[in-house]
Amino acid sequence: MHDTDEHRFVMSRQEFPALFAALRERGYRLHGPTVCDQAIVYDEIRDTDDLPVGWSDEQEAGRYRLRRRDDAALFAYNVGPHSWKKYLQLPVLTLWKARMTEQGLCFESGEDTAVRTAFIGVRPCELAAVAVQDRVLTGGDHVDTDYARRRQQLFIVSVQCTRAGNTCFCTSMQTGPRAERGFDLAITELLDGRRHEFVIEAGSDAGVELMAHIPHRAAGADDWQAACDASQRTAAQMGRHMDTGGIRELLYRNAEHPRWDAIAERCLACANCTMVCPTCFCSAVEDSTDLAGQTAERVRRWDSCFNSRYSYIHGGSIRRSTRSRYRQWLTHKLASWHDQFGSSGCVGCGRCITWCPAGIDITAEVAAIRADDAGGLASPTGDQ
Ligand code: SF4
Ligand code: SF4
Repeated sequence: MHDTDEHRFVMSRQEFPALFAALRERGYRLHGPTVCDQAIVYDEIRDTDDLPVGWSDEQEAGRYRLRRRDDAALFAYNVGPHSWKKYLQLPVLTLWKARMTEQGLCFESGEDTAVRTAFIGVRPCELAAVAVQDRVLTGGDHVDTDYARRRQQLFIVSVQCTRAGNTCFCTSMQTGPRAERGFDLAITELLDGRRHEFVIEAGSDAGVELMAHIPHRAAGADDWQAACDASQRTAAQMGRHMDTGGIRELLYRNAEHPRWDAIAERCLACANCTMVCPTCFCSAVEDSTDLAGQTAERVRRWDSCFNSRYSYIHGGSIRRSTRSRYRQWLTHKLASWHDQFGSSGCVGCGRCITWCPAGIDITAEVAAIRADDAGGLASPTGDQ
């Protein structure tokens, strides 16, 4: 929509804090990457000094480490254990409360806590994940109203990736490393011995309006080319790859592949992969009451298809084995998500690989099944 030169800008490192200040002046609460507990996580931030200045990360299957850089880059790392869903689909949401009064039971809705929020540093794969959750939670007949309220008050500052992590495979899922849409502003950080600048693209009227009120210069053709070159270099470094050709049919016809048993030998059913995944949306509803029977509340919590109780219906769980739960998770992400929501449920962020304590790698599992594809048209069967 805004892909002309007049919507491309450059800010110097010295000017860059003005972007944060302008958002705060407009009433936005800022959330972005910061260092905590030896990881880069998302939390409330106020200024550029709160970002992981001079930090990077190393990621492998089942492994994550922070590393110091020898410069003061602001965005030279990849995604960490948090995703933006924690702000849009809250981990714990009170749906209603009830209390006993002299007139009888009195019900109150859960509090509306949505406020104007700016996300700083949303990566292209994460923009794709927000779009997936938009379709899931607001795209059908039954809209998640809390999610919708939060989404409406959002200003998104995306950051184009200038390095790929070892567990990233966004190029396979066509979600990165360069975002084309879905942001208000998108930043490419250019840092070398010559300069430390940010090439900024406005993707919405709100983004254009903001840029009009903060110091910058117009981006020249060479600035834009430098930003595009950085993205191309990132694409060439991608740590993982997934062949997605015919993947839906591949997984459906391999529901009884022996690889599921091999994965189950390693999988702890810990649910880490679903907690860190930016698109997983499963939740459970819990009711509780005080001992005196005077108050009660209903909350919604993140849940996981790796929990045995998640598939519990009248007398038993449908997916009793770890094999069936892993198969359900991977097959939903890459196959039945297409049937349900018209897209893949995986954006190639690599979190489930990095944060799996057993180092189980979704790209390796798909490759193993593909390498020994049973062929034919066997259909999925029940658990066992
Ligand atoms: S695949 Fe890994 S992260 Fe997911 S449940 Fe199994 S052990 Fe846990
Ligand atoms: S399945 Fe894994 S790689 Fe895909 S979006 Fe979820 S966490 Fe990221």
